[in-house]
Amino acid sequence: MATAPFAFFDLDVLRTTRLGPGFLRVTLGGGQIAAVGHAGRDQRIKLFVPHPGQRTIAVPRDDAANWWTAWQRMHPAERAFMRTYTVRELRRDAGELDIDFALHPHPGPASSWATRVRPGDPATILGPVEDENAGIGFHPPAATDAVLLAGDASALPAIAGILAWLPPGTPATVLVETTDPADHQHLPTRADADITWLTHPAVPHPASEEDPLLTALRATPLPGSAPYAWIAGEASSVRALRRHLVGERGMDRRHVTFTGYWRRHASEDTLIQEAIAATA
Ligand SMILES: Cc1cc2nc3c(=O)[nH]c(=O)nc-3n(C[C@H](O)[C@H](O)[C@H](O)COP(=O)(O)OP(=O)(O)OC[C@H]3O[C@@H](n4cnc5c(N)ncnc54)[C@H](O)[C@@H]3O)c2cc1C
Repeated sequence: MATAPFAFFDLDVLRTTRLGPGFLRVTLGGGQIAAVGHAGRDQRIKLFVPHPGQRTIAVPRDDAANWWTAWQRMHPAERAFMRTYTVRELRRDAGELDIDFALHPHPGPASSWATRVRPGDPATILGPVEDENAGIGFHPPAATDAVLLAGDASALPAIAGILAWLPPGTPATVLVETTDPADHQHLPTRADADITWLTHPAVPHPASEEDPLLTALRATPLPGSAPYAWIAGEASSVRALRRHLVGERGMDRRHVTFTGYWRRHASEDTLIQEAIAATA
């Protein structure tokens, strides 16, 4: 897998667009945008947002090669909040980059930022400087003849990016869960995609209920004879879906890419602190 370096890009908010009751698109632009690497799929970036009242976005710009160590050394009250998002679309000709925010009932710094920003506000991302890079998770093995995509609203921007990228005619079975049917989107693709939209009004849904994505997956035949699965969303849901595919459906674990995009009752700061503690 490519491990191209990442860099800080200081951008501006161009506009925000309400896509539906649960989705807000923030379109970024600015002089540096042409240098952002992008080859589609589930391209992840880090978004840095200021504390309320802060005028500048405090990140270790001068030490981008060691940004993670440098960012940890900064005081939490001063350094910008860091959250992970997907490049929904990069239009280099127009100088525009879209991030789609799944709005949720306990908005943290990033979702709150998205709802309050105005055109001209600054936005800083840590993004790739090469098109193929380590921030892409969707890597089907060579023999793959079909794909299965499953995720909640937080994964919809990545699912949209993967569908837009898939080669023409690729059989693709897709399960997406949102909280409101009005958030279902048209997902342009040349793949032969069978998309099932699930609606559950509460996110996260009560832990006592079976996960709607798992219920739907149990009833879904695996596509093709050598499928590759990509799963993202709430961490425990993602683990349950992966367990089902590997344990009950017999999929080779190397053919299942799974990523917890968020965890119930835990902010990304908590997840970062856990990651730091685990490596200490
Ligand atoms: C690789 C990757 C790509 C991602 N891409 C996107 C993307 O394109 N769009 C997107 O919207 N999200 C995306 N996410 C998820 C996003 O990073 C998290 O939802 C993040 O926690 C949001 O930050 P926040 O400041 O709003 O909330 P936080 O401060 O992190 O959390 C506050 C509270 O909200 C809860 N929470 C967080 N996210 C959700 C959610 N989605 N639904 C319900 N409750 C939630 C937490 O459990 C916590 O209790 C991605 C995550 C990863 C790892």
